[in-house]
Amino acid sequence: MGSHLLNRIYHIVQQAIFPSKCLVCDVFFHIPDRNRDRNSFDTIADERAWPLSISAQVEISLDSCLCPGCLSDLSPVESPFCTGCGIPFTGRQGPDHYCGACLASGKQFGIARAPLVYDKVITEVIHSFKYRGKIQLAEPLSELLLTAFMFFWDIDGIDIVLPVPLHPSRLRQRGFNQAYLLIGYWPRLAARHPGDFSRIQIERDLLIRTMPTAPQSALGRDQRADNIKGAFDLADKDAVQGKNILLIDDVYTTGATVNECGRLLLDRGARQVDVLTLARAI
Ligand SMILES: [Zn+2]
Ligand SMILES: [Zn+2]
Repeated sequence: MGSHLLNRIYHIVQQAIFPSKCLVCDVFFHIPDRNRDRNSFDTIADERAWPLSISAQVEISLDSCLCPGCLSDLSPVESPFCTGCGIPFTGRQGPDHYCGACLASGKQFGIARAPLVYDKVITEVIHSFKYRGKIQLAEPLSELLLTAFMFFWDIDGIDIVLPVPLHPSRLRQRGFNQAYLLIGYWPRLAARHPGDFSRIQIERDLLIRTMPTAPQSALGRDQRADNIKGAFDLADKDAVQGKNILLIDDVYTTGATVNECGRLLLDRGARQVDVLTLARAI
């Protein structure tokens, strides 16, 4: 009997005895057989035609922690979306183009992208991750974000990856920064990718939050921009000179937070600032 067949039998038996529990709705489910020696990123990097569509990335990254029902309720961002801020347009036809908001007001970043629309299921996933201690979501979410990065950007186009920081008082309260965790697995996952990631610096402590602010979620659009103004600084003021920056956060809502980070980074000489988040509010 070949080891491949043994692995399959092992997977089937293991899944029958210990089915997985969905991290969103708590139902038990069977992980698809593809994941028996799960390293889906190897699958992504080596076996599949690249680039994968966003919906295939979502499925491959999350099908070991979400039941098929929750997985199919997620909404991958599909074209057409805004060329600038990445907001998906409700009409499902035509090419990508700039939205009215991007045309009306200059944003402090080049492009913003996200693999998922911020809806009920991804809100649950992010809440499980942020507030209910489901840290096991960090690796699949990190993987999804990395594949989305490779889908939307040319690896050579980014020099430094910066997670949006929490203020130290908020960090103490929560125990971790979700934006750090979202890129936590990048070095390990990227090492298996044929592209050259080694020149991309991942800087967790360069962008710092100097001011505690009220949670953005409690505020309206205008208040958010005021609330976050002047809240960031750089630990080394010359570190971004002439660099292309990728900002990472969990959710893009009004863009006030990343816009404020972008303003600071461009002030300090960054050549370009782009934004990648897990989810995009519409
Ligand atoms: Zn579920
Ligand atoms: Zn836009």
